[in-house]
Amino acid sequence: MKLVKDENELKKESISDKEAEEAFVKILTWMGEDPGREGLLETPKRVVKAFKEYFKGYKEDPKEILNKTFGDVDGYDDMVVQKNISVQSHCEHHMAPIIGIAHVAYIPKERVVGLSKLARVVEVFSKRLQTQERLTMQIATTLMESLDAKGVAVTIDSTHQCMTMRGIKKEQATTVTNYYLGQFKEDLSYQNRYLRFIAK
Ligand SMILES: [Zn+2]
Repeated sequence: MKLVKDENELKKESISDKEAEEAFVKILTWMGEDPGREGLLETPKRVVKAFKEYFKGYKEDPKEILNKTFGDVDGYDDMVVQKNISVQSHCEHHMAPIIGIAHVAYIPKERVVGLSKLARVVEVFSKRLQTQERLTMQIATTLMESLDAKGVAVTIDSTHQCMTMRGIKKEQATTVTNYYLGQFKEDLSYQNRYLRFIAK
């Protein structure tokens, strides 16, 4: 156990909800708004509450979610594919929403995990500031390690609002990232079957 807390941990603990609300009052003023008008009075409080939800993934440990696995799979040894898991994240460069879907597959060695846990792992990593590339890799490596799987494949297909609402304003642009580990990386026939499953 770490006895000495690093600077970031101390900073996080020492900032109260009230101080975060005050920071949003400042941002509203900076935008040209009057934070004292009726419609905005409760806004900083609501935004802090919303931020707690957007970024709740910092307080959750994905490895703990995958702690409970089941060994009674009667020899099932093919891939388990979960498709169309909704992704709601925020890019770390602009704090703008990343909205899309994830597909996750793994090949169990001896143990499987409850199906809802795959979506939970996607959620925990999504509820942090992210790049789509890192998000894809974090989901894959965590599943691979925690499940001691033979292989893992993760695909994310999403829209970045920092691209659609600002900057080059490409409303239709979507970004697809893939990450393969183990059997999915080594054996193209597995990769191709996975891609066929998620294409439907
Ligand atoms: Zn961005």
